Amino acid sequence: MEILIGREPEQGRLLVSVKVNGQARIAAIGGAGSVPGSVSRCLPAEGKAHCKIEVAADGGMVVTNLKAANVTYVDGLEVMSKRVTGESRVELGKGKYVVNVNTVVEVARKLAAVGSAQQAGGGSAGKEAPEFSILPLKRVWNRYHDEQFELQKRQKNLGLIKSLYIPCTLLSSLAGMLVRHLGMAEGVAQSVSYVLYGVAAVILLYGLYRSFTDRSLEEKEEIAERFEHDYVCPNPECHRFLNYQKYDILRQNKNCPFCKCRWTEK
Ligand SMILES: [Zn+2]
Repeated sequence: MEILIGREPEQGRLLVSVKVNGQARIAAIGGAGSVPGSVSRCLPAEGKAHCKIEVAADGGMVVTNLKAANVTYVDGLEVMSKRVTGESRVELGKGKYVVNVNTVVEVARKLAAVGSAQQAGGGSAGKEAPEFSILPLKRVWNRYHDEQFELQKRQKNLGLIKSLYIPCTLLSSLAGMLVRHLGMAEGVAQSVSYVLYGVAAVILLYGLYRSFTDRSLEEKEEIAERFEHDYVCPNPECHRFLNYQKYDILRQNKNCPFCKCRWTEK
């Protein structure tokens, strides 16, 4: 039997993993955060861990350090690979986290024997979580993103129209003065001024009309509602809203924070 041990990436417990028929079975020992950061992570799917414990048929055990950047101590000495017994003091990492080899082997035996990893050891173990595709959420996220963008663009344009009114009125006064200054007839100066005031008035009215008929707020709410309804965990037993996290973040997380089901992109 070959046992991988290391720090559980998310909760910082001691993760124990054994392979049965090519499938990694895992269980966690101890409380959350009980394993210090100096212990390397155990990633059973990738075959990575801090160290492995091989148990021979006669019960003989060998501890092997798995990563050059790691330290594994047996009875106070740094080792790469060493025979151990249940009485040996095995410590992981610079923080010298003490591993009870007997407990680990017992947990691993249970994992290998029982069909599932439930209740193995003292920890709440992770049984093989079901798998669901999050690919449909990609479209949901992209759509939400596009709609938000459109909405913002529209609001920006509306703001622009409204603000045009001010330079237009200023321009009309200025133009009136300028025409007079150039020695044009009073009547012409007046007309130019009126025309520009007229334009300003039209812009102002149009801006007001657009503000009154604008449905941005309602649309914003509709978009958010639809998004919260659709952007949920693909596991039908969970279906919880995954918050306003980018799709890329979900992809990196690889599993649901609520039901712990595994996410794929198949
Ligand atoms: Zn879920």
